[in-house]
Amino acid sequence: MNVRECLWLSSQRISQSHPRRPVYRLSTRFAKSAFLAKRIQMPLNKRTLLISTWRLTQALGLSAVLLTLAFCSLNAAANRSPEIRVILWFDTEDYLSPRDDDATKRLCEMLTDRGIHATFKLVGEKARVLERRGRRDVIAALKKHDIGYHADFHSVHPAPTEYLADCGWLDGIAEFARREGDGAADVRRILEVPTLACYGQPGSSWAPQAMAALKQIGVAPSGIPCYVDEGSHVGLEEKPFWYTGVLTVYHMGANTTRMDLHDPAAVAPAKKKVSDIAERLRSQGGGLISIFYHPCEWIHREFWDGVNFARGRNPPREEWKVPPQRTPEETDVAFERFAEYVDHIRAIPGVRWITASELPGLYPDVTRTQGATKEDLDELARRISKKDAAGLDYQRIGDRVYSIADQFELLTVAVNATMTRQKVLFPLKISALQGPDAPPPGSATLSNVARLVFRDAVHDVEEFVRVTQRVPTRVFIGSEQASPAEFLIAMASVWSANERQPADGRKDEVALGRQARILPERWIAQDTPGLFGGWVIHKENFRAPKVMELARLQAWTLKPATPARSSTQE
Ligand SMILES: [Zn+2]
Repeated sequence: MNVRECLWLSSQRISQSHPRRPVYRLSTRFAKSAFLAKRIQMPLNKRTLLISTWRLTQALGLSAVLLTLAFCSLNAAANRSPEIRVILWFDTEDYLSPRDDDATKRLCEMLTDRGIHATFKLVGEKARVLERRGRRDVIAALKKHDIGYHADFHSVHPAPTEYLADCGWLDGIAEFARREGDGAADVRRILEVPTLACYGQPGSSWAPQAMAALKQIGVAPSGIPCYVDEGSHVGLEEKPFWYTGVLTVYHMGANTTRMDLHDPAAVAPAKKKVSDIAERLRSQGGGLISIFYHPCEWIHREFWDGVNFARGRNPPREEWKVPPQRTPEETDVAFERFAEYVDHIRAIPGVRWITASELPGLYPDVTRTQGATKEDLDELARRISKKDAAGLDYQRIGDRVYSIADQFELLTVAVNATMTRQKVLFPLKISALQGPDAPPPGSATLSNVARLVFRDAVHDVEEFVRVTQRVPTRVFIGSEQASPAEFLIAMASVWSANERQPADGRKDEVALGRQARILPERWIAQDTPGLFGGWVIHKENFRAPKVMELARLQAWTLKPATPARSSTQE
């Protein structure tokens, strides 16, 4: 029995004993009757005694509810198996072969029949060909699932990293929105969805500017941009994380699994592998498994884009060709194997199938919704200004996690307020700033700054942050420059000193902080030949070092995504 059923039964008991009294009034009545129960010791007239006795009965009734609830909660906690979440997603991208439309429909329907919601990330051109071919049946089958986005033309050159390779931060965001925004709008229009559940890049054509542009192109379920894919450019302990303000499932490593659809010998090991992952996650209190496929895998011998666009080739549309196909029998057997695999996963205790649009509810960022208390800010300032810290890092306090960009935003707002003699209104909600758009200047030539000069610099930074929603690349102190890390450490020590000595005994000067390492950079991949060049569509040895430099700067925004308090531990 779960808590909700217990509550229903208890409320039935109460409403049966007092049928005309609505249950929802009990909580206020309980407070009143508890007060009357105390007074029952005093001399009372008969009428008061009668009323008090009646109220006491009510109080006892409610106590029974509370006891039952407590019992049920304990019971539920003892029985609850840690939740093993499975996100099943399909990159729905082959716009060349009409057989891919049938495979997509068949997949949607077999999952719908099993009560499973999956996430289908559609390429813009795929949605358009479904419309042009009049495949309302496929569109209707897809609409039973989550609809995400997977670029406008996927592998037609230039692919996203190719056109972003030499861009900076802001022009890169604008270029991604320009090239991919129309496709996202087409997918929304054709599939009749108000927003797309997530985005994930074609192949390894990843870039942080794409993530920062998602809200702009309408990929933000519940107002939160989501990213679901697999790759190694950025990742955090093989769990969901926040990066550039985007809730991200990426680089899931040992928590990603799949089964070869066309090898009969692959079924048993694949089942064992997913069971082993579930078992490991269960022992850790629960977690997320990511499984991905492409509908075209059921019908092709070779990927649809490899035969056309490999290693930078870019034939015109008239010359696009369909890759070698599997026989209908091979496709049927692959569907049977996949059904067996899915049924095996369904039977694993504690499994819950989730979709991309559920991610914001399952991993809420309470620093955005509830904000930081004064105690949190005091603690953050203490940790930042610790002399022996190895560098700046994201910080966890209870169920709140603060990225370095979050810390910068909070301290800018709070220190600006105190230095200009305004009241800080706690809790302070963060708005998820993006990181700096370029590397910082060298160490500041100044080491100490007059207090009033520092006040003016903080005021300038507060305005920059509010207007641009970014951590500044450099902070101006008059004509001198400091790095945002140095400035963050200085703000933390000003906040802490102000707490210790709020009156007039403060120093006249503020010491700038040290150049500190941005420790979450360790979660950003090194630029190696295989990082982008490993995808067969990119040119051999294609490199994008500037993309990875910008990715490292966005480490300011990186932090773990914490599951909602009531759900599984991760
Ligand atoms: Zn793809």
